[in-house]
Amino acid sequence: MRLLDALKASTEYLEKAGIDDAFADAEILTFHAAGADRLAAYMDNPEITKGLRAKIRRLMARRAKGEPLQYIVGHVDFLGLTIHVGKGVLIPRPETELLAEEAIRSAGKGGTPPPAILDLCTGSGCIALALAKALPEAEVYGTDVSKDALRFAKKNAGSNGIGNAAFFEGSLFSPLPGGKVFDLIVSNPPYIVSADIAGLQREIRDWEPLAALDGGKDGLVFYRKILGEAGRHLRPGGIVLCELGFGQSDMVRKIAELSGFGRITVTKDYAGIERILKAELDRGMPDSG
Ligand code: GLN
Repeated sequence: MRLLDALKASTEYLEKAGIDDAFADAEILTFHAAGADRLAAYMDNPEITKGLRAKIRRLMARRAKGEPLQYIVGHVDFLGLTIHVGKGVLIPRPETELLAEEAIRSAGKGGTPPPAILDLCTGSGCIALALAKALPEAEVYGTDVSKDALRFAKKNAGSNGIGNAAFFEGSLFSPLPGGKVFDLIVSNPPYIVSADIAGLQREIRDWEPLAALDGGKDGLVFYRKILGEAGRHLRPGGIVLCELGFGQSDMVRKIAELSGFGRITVTKDYAGIERILKAELDRGMPDSG
């Protein structure tokens, strides 16, 4: 059997299992199993061993059960970083790259001294690590309640050669060293309304960590906590950037206002959904020096 025969068989298998993008997923997993470059695989169409055929079958069986493609492959690209993912950690989404890019722009503007940045609900560490890589002078802190997630975050720091990001286990601000203040706080918190979880696609609902998705009864629990406490952990003029769920921008804007933030702006994602909220603290008294 040749590689493209295995691809054809795999596509049919995933189609029968009701996987939407059967061909695309079969292609990625087949070439991943073979360690083959896509173009080379089509050009050469090599004969495959029984062992490789069995390996391809195992990967397809996992996908057929609904396991996300990214968990099976084991990593995703996030702003040029290779982020390892697997059971126990949320898979970084393309919208979150926009949040990280906006954070890089905002933190990069601060000038001297180098910025201190906090990423709450860091998960795989993708946002914290993208910031740490883009701003090598910055010191980046990430926190998460999940030990499993932090294992991935630390692994991702190491595998991407990033030394200016540190990760702490605990809820939101609680594990931080006392008295530490930041120039920028960024977060992609859990924001799905609890009652909507059951209706999510099974790849998310049955596989990704519920704790990374569930934003409580109205989906806004984490915004209240983050924006409510952020002022105590920011320098004057400091910034909070949050990813928003669909339809949440007006309510989160209100929460930010009630939490004492002055300038508040919301940016849309590629799909035109209001996705990123930026809230700035006032600078306080003008510096007389
Ligand atoms: N964006 C994720 C989703 O669509 C949710 C992640 C989150 O709650 N922050 O499932």
